[in-house]
Order: sequence, then C-alpha cells, then structure tokens
Amino acid sequence: MNLETPVSQLFMVGQTYARRLTKLGIETIEDLIFHFPFRYDDFSLISPIAKVQPGEIVTIKGQLISIVNEYTKNGKKIQKAIVADDSGQIQIIWFNQIYLVKTFKIGESYNFSGKIEFFGHQIVMISPEYENIQHTTLTVQANNKVPIHTGRLVPIYPETYGVSSKWLRSRIAPLLKDFLPTLIDYLPIDLLDQQQLIPLSQALIYIHFPENQNQIDLARKRLAFDELLMIQLKGLKRKNDWQKEKLSKPFSIDQSKISQFTESLPFELTNAQKRCVKEILADLTKSQPMNRLLQGDVGSGKTVVAAIAMYVAHLNGFQSAIMAPTEILANQHYQTLKQLLTPFGLTINLTTSSKKQYSNIAIKQSDIVVGTHALLYNKNIFNNLGLVIIDEQHRFGVEQRSQLVNKGQTPHVLTMTATPIPRTIALTLYGDLDLSVIDEMPIGRLKVKTWVVPPTKRQDAYNWIKKHVKDTDETAFVICPLIEESESLKTVKAVTVEFEKLKNQVFPDLRLGLLHGRMKSKEKDQTIEEFRKGDLDILVSTPVVEVGIDIPRATIMLIEAADRFGLAQLHQLRGRVGRGMKESYCLLFSDLTEGKAVQRLKMMETSHLGMELAEMDLRMRGPGEVYGITQHGFPDLKIASYSDLELIQETRQAAESLIGKLNQYPLLAEKLQRSSKPKVEPN
Ligand code: ADP
Ligand code: MG
Repeated sequence: MNLETPVSQLFMVGQTYARRLTKLGIETIEDLIFHFPFRYDDFSLISPIAKVQPGEIVTIKGQLISIVNEYTKNGKKIQKAIVADDSGQIQIIWFNQIYLVKTFKIGESYNFSGKIEFFGHQIVMISPEYENIQHTTLTVQANNKVPIHTGRLVPIYPETYGVSSKWLRSRIAPLLKDFLPTLIDYLPIDLLDQQQLIPLSQALIYIHFPENQNQIDLARKRLAFDELLMIQLKGLKRKNDWQKEKLSKPFSIDQSKISQFTESLPFELTNAQKRCVKEILADLTKSQPMNRLLQGDVGSGKTVVAAIAMYVAHLNGFQSAIMAPTEILANQHYQTLKQLLTPFGLTINLTTSSKKQYSNIAIKQSDIVVGTHALLYNKNIFNNLGLVIIDEQHRFGVEQRSQLVNKGQTPHVLTMTATPIPRTIALTLYGDLDLSVIDEMPIGRLKVKTWVVPPTKRQDAYNWIKKHVKDTDETAFVICPLIEESESLKTVKAVTVEFEKLKNQVFPDLRLGLLHGRMKSKEKDQTIEEFRKGDLDILVSTPVVEVGIDIPRATIMLIEAADRFGLAQLHQLRGRVGRGMKESYCLLFSDLTEGKAVQRLKMMETSHLGMELAEMDLRMRGPGEVYGITQHGFPDLKIASYSDLELIQETRQAAESLIGKLNQYPLLAEKLQRSSKPKVEPN
C-alpha cells in the first residue's frame, strides 16, 4: 500500500464508496488523507452527568442502561436511551433512527457529544454523536487510543451523497495510524526550518484530529504553504517546458507598417496600450513562443492591441486564430477585426458550431480565423498557425489552452482577460504566463453614474427608466443573478418570472427581450441583434452578458440582488454600458438596507477601477467569493487563501529556488508529478 493506492482497496471502502468519493476528488489514499476538514465541532468539554446544563454542548461518558423505540401519536418514531455515570443519569433522545436500538449494546460504555436541552420538563441530550469507547479500535497515533467522533475537536469534512463526516473520520483515522510513521516529508528540512513549518505527518494529524486550536493553526500554516507551493511549482514547470519549445522562425517587426495601421485608427492608443503592444512585439521577435496574459478593464481596448499582434503575424506570413467564450463575442470580434484589418489586405473568417458555412478551404486560406471553443475540436483547419489569441481567459481551463497550443507547430499565445486579478495572484494562478496590464482607460470615457437603490426607491427607479427609455433612443439592461452555481434551470425560471413581471406589470408599454444561457444560440443571436438595433427597449438577462458585448445604444444597467455579486463582477456588468459618448447609469438593486453588504455595494458609487474594486472585495469577502462561483479556470484552494499575499509571495520564492533542483528532491518531484495528473471528472 502506498500513497497512490486506489481507495477502493481500503478496508471497508470498495467500489461503491470509491465511486462516491470521486465526487470529492478522492481517488487515492493520498487524496483521502489530504481531504481536510473545513471546520470542527467542539465537543471537548467533558462533564459529569449531574453537572450538565441546558444549552451546553458537552460530552458525557457513561454506561448505556436502556434504549427503546417509542411511537408518538402522529406516527413519528423516537429513540429513548438512559445513560448513567457515577454522578447520575440522563435521558438521550433521537428521532427516526430506529436502527439505533440494534447498534447500541446495553451495559457497554459510550461517549455522547451534543447539546443539552429541555424536552418537556426534562433535561435531556438530543441527537448526540456517539462512540463506543469500550471496544474502540480506532486510534490516530500508535499506542494511543483516543475517541474520534466525540469528546474532542471533531473534524467536519466536505461531504457528498452517501459519504458522511463520520464515515470519513472512521477511514482517515486508521490510515493516519498505519501510514504516517512511514511517510517521509517531501519538503527539504532547511525550507521547513526557514519557514518555521511543522513536519508533514504532524500537520496531517493536527489537521484531522487536533487537540487544540493551536495545533489547527500550525497544521493550516504548513498545509497552506504546501498547497500554494504546488500551484507555484506547477506554473513554473509549465513555463520551463514552454521555454524549451523553439520556433522555426522568429517574427520580424515592420515598424512603419504598424504605424500606418495605428494611424488609420479613429483614436490614439493610450500609453498603456502602447506599452502592452511593445511588450507583445518584443515577445514575437524571440525564438521562443510568447505566452502572455493581457489584462485590462472592460473597455480598456484590448481588441485593438490583439489586432496589431495579428497584423504582425500576417506580415510574417502566419495565420492567427482568436477564440472567444461565446458565439456572440466571436461574432463581435469578427465584425471588429473585419473593419480594422480588411483595409490592410487581411482575410478574416468566422467559424462557430452553429455557423458552418465556411469550408475548411476558406479557413485554410484566411489570415485570421475567429471562433469559439469549436476551434479547439476542429483539427487541422490551419495551414500555418503562428498566433493564438484567447479572449476572456478565465472561461478556459489550462487543459483547453494547451489543446489548441499543441495543434502542430507551436504558435505564440496571447490570453486576454478583463478579470481584475491582483498581480501577485495572477502570477500564482498563471505562473507560466508573462503579464501585461492596460491600466488606463481611453480619454474622454464618461464614468457610469452608479447608485445603490433600496427597496423604497424601486418604483421611482422604474419610473425614471421608463421615462428615459421613452424620451431617448437609449436602452437598458436588467440583470438577474444566478441562483445556483451554474446557469441552472432554477436561474432560468427566476429570470423568466422577472421578465414576465417587468413586461406585464412594470413596463407594459415598452418592448422587452429575454436572454439566458439555456436558449438556443440562434435565439440568443436574434435577441441580441434586436437589442443592438434598438428594436427592444429593455433586455432582461442572466449574467451571460457579463463578458464583452458592445452595444453603444444601451446606457442603463439595472442589476437585481446586486449584493449577490462580487464587486469585480458588478464592475464588468457595468462595463456593458457607457460604451458610447452618452451619459450612462448603473442601478444596483438590493433588498438590504444596511450593514457591511450595503457598504460594500456603495463602493461601486465612488470607484470606477476594476482592480481597486477587486482588491476591496478581496479584503471584505475573501477570494472564494470574489473569484468563486462563475469564474472558472482558477484552481480551488482547499486550505490556503488567495488573500494571503504574503504566503503567495513566500511560496513563489520557494518555488523559484526549488524548480531548478527538483532532481535533488525526488519526493517533491514525485508529489508534483502526482498533483499534475488530471482527475477523473466526477459527473
Ligand atoms: P475590451 O478591452 O473590453 O475588449 P474593446 O477592445 O472592446 O475593449 O474596446 C472598447 C471600445 O473602445 C471599442 O469601441 C474600441 O474601438 C475603443 N477603443 C479602444 N482603444 C481606444 C483608445 N485608445 N481611445 C479611444 N477608444 C478606444
Ligand atoms: Mg473584449
């Protein structure tokens, strides 16, 4: 048995449980001992029965005197037990767990941990955790029998159907006992000393079965370090691998042609855009392929920067591909690029899953191919691919990225994102990428006027929108939040209900459209087109419009239940308006009227910088929520936190010094190898 042994080979696990465990990302013994509790029940107060008080959470140790099933008048089943110790006796009650009568053995000693309450006029313990301490074979450390479900800090784990924390504890405890004595730490001892970290096996005992809060803290410190270190090492390794790739021909840069192009634009590039162009062009002249992230707020003008890079590829005789996360966006890029680059002799083609009108021959001959993910699955459609642009990076996982990249010759890759990830975090998440930031908006852009709207002002706001939309040719978005993690049927239902309400009751004289991710792409395109043309006054939508669409006519953004969104996400939604030269407005509806959540929303009224808002959100809410739900492509952290910038920096340094000498640390190299292996997708 070793760390890589499948859990199905463990005593009491088997195929059924093994299948359930994949839902928690657990396949091997190592996965199981690295499945960490997210909190602990504190059952460490042990009390003589005679001393227990109602309201207390305690552990009592006693002998089981009796246990019976009773049936109430309305058919419920109650289990009543009597337990005694030297000081007295107490009744214990469970509900609807008739099997308990068979589980317990009269006369044996048990721990019971739970809450003391009044039941009728009697002081009882209700639905406690229990553990037979007479026959327990469970022990965490050799020769040291301790309870694991009661009478201590009891770990509570992420669970899944059919896998409870109690079940997990019962499997993890014996593993720790059998395994840890032979487990050698993969981190170099001098690194542990320098960072003041405890040894791995101790950290694993402390995280699962701590004796006190201090042990939990020590364990978390060590394991968080490991978690971030692995992410850093993985990133650096990808970077090293990438740098081993060689290009057949570095690009040359024709500065005068580029100037002609930029002079053809109806605006001057901002200094930030110029700087990013320079960084990108420098990459393109190298003999290693570029792998760069271009980060910039919505509307900061990333597309034109990408267009310059694609033009350079063309001048060097190469094709470019640009991938967008949705068809709507692909379409938009197609229009923009046609406008910008056909005058310079480039041919541009669009290929998406719904638009197959272009033959592969047309694509083989085009200079720029615009598409969605469909591009990934369309093998061999390129003749001579020299540059890949991936728009809105967070929608694509690393796997998908490499899929495109490995298509024949290695092209340059430029990834673009509007997600305002602070620099340190970006360097961690995308450790293999170089970073360029457009940190400046084009001049003359008006700030979107933003208000948080309490329930009492809702009707006024509706009236104002009604009037504004009627008096002008301007239009409005209404965004409803996601109700579950993805755009589930529940969310679709909610947005549909809101749409009907707005259409029939609030804005009966206006033309309303509905947009959500579950619609057919043809319907989606059609609705967006109607809205773009001004045939719809109000577009009611889920946050699918978050990324990218550009409709200058839309000047009002109303967001329902705004408190459910992260500030960075609100900022991106707000970026859908204020695209033209007209004054634009953002109304943040919330049922909350006071407290931290409202203060947080109010920041939207004064701040108009994505990065600033993201950092404030990070401080106020923690990164799980900021980057959690809708934004994929970030590794989930089990124990570390993206807001721990200091630890991110320390692990970055440690990774940089370790990556070159992994051959000196074979255990660490193996660990890295194992953690880079993709997991079976749970379904
Ligand atoms: P994003 O970074 O969100 O992808 P886009 O590339 O779509 O932004 O640009 C948003 C709008 O700003 C476009 O209409 C584009 O033509 C315009 N734009 C880009 N750069 C400038 C600039 N330097 N000055 C003025 N307008 C610009
Ligand atoms: Mg864009």
